[in-house]
Amino acid sequence: MIAPGSVIGILGGGQLGRMLALAAAPLGFRVHVYAPEDELPAADVSFAVTRAGYADAAALAAFAGQVDVVTFEFENVPSATLALLESLRPVHPCHAALDVAQDRLLEKRFVEELGGTTAPYAAVDSVADLDAALARLGTPAILKTRRMGYDGKGQIRIMHPTEAAASCAALGGADLILEGLVAFDREFSIIVTRGADGSERHFPAIENHHRGGILAESRVPAAVSADAVAAATALVVRIADALGYVGVLTCEFFDTAAGPVFNEMAPRVHNSGHWTIEGARTSQFEQHIRAICGLPLGAADLLAPAVSMTNLLGDAALGWADILSDPDAHLHLYGKSTPEPGRKMGHVTKLHA
Ligand code: AMP
Repeated sequence: MIAPGSVIGILGGGQLGRMLALAAAPLGFRVHVYAPEDELPAADVSFAVTRAGYADAAALAAFAGQVDVVTFEFENVPSATLALLESLRPVHPCHAALDVAQDRLLEKRFVEELGGTTAPYAAVDSVADLDAALARLGTPAILKTRRMGYDGKGQIRIMHPTEAAASCAALGGADLILEGLVAFDREFSIIVTRGADGSERHFPAIENHHRGGILAESRVPAAVSADAVAAATALVVRIADALGYVGVLTCEFFDTAAGPVFNEMAPRVHNSGHWTIEGARTSQFEQHIRAICGLPLGAADLLAPAVSMTNLLGDAALGWADILSDPDAHLHLYGKSTPEPGRKMGHVTKLHA
């Protein structure tokens, strides 16, 4: 067990790290952030900061020497970085979870082996592969990079087979995956926390609305059938068990007439769970801290009949004065300096009767 008073090391210094640090404080932990960027929302509320690259072995070793446990707030941590840290300190979630979550192809195969349903897919490493995949899956279809995609980046919708060569080239020509288009009614996510002892807690299913590939709003409870929620939640628990996962695990699903279709997983706290800060008995951030420190998990039930979370993207954050004048609004600003279009600057949570 990592007892209160210990130092938690976090790789990555964005808003997820900031909210993890804020959740760690009441439990008596201090946070040390490791990240290369100049602007680090997490550093504003942390005990210590190492500003260094993820390939800097000396800086990583020094960091490991100053923390008691290591976690991360983004899934694209290089494998070698994690391996080095794992040789020095406990790291949660585990390397296997990161390997699966970093690669859309491995992720889909892994989930299928566990009995989950994914979009129909094919590995694409050439235009010939893509032609064959389009012939099998049909159009429209979505071509995605296997790695490093986020917020709708690294993907192209293909409407006609004649677009194959250009689409393939635009995404680098190899290490791609073609997905058939899933006809869904809505999108939802399931957030499960798994403790070191295998205990598990999950929040209610969360309905997610995207604009331009970026999460705009999350709502609980989701307008998804109890059967679909149960099947999706059971799958996420199987994924967590199979990986020996410790911490918060988020999986995104499409709700379809034939049942839930797994889209992707994030081995971390997630934007769709921000509402848990005010809306659940234990937030996703506190659950993650509890899990990685080997502490008992908290209760995950709702504190209101319904909760909503709206992202403040770009200039929307400049409306903070109006938001503060609404007594029902819980405002979170991440301390970022430039409100570029689509940039996640903050969020607002509301509890509803
Ligand atoms: P992703 O980065 O894979 O989560 O994709 C971003 C968004 O694109 C998703 O939230 C969906 O709205 C949409 N999308 C991605 N893949 C598919 C698919 N196979 N079928 C239908 N919509 C998709």
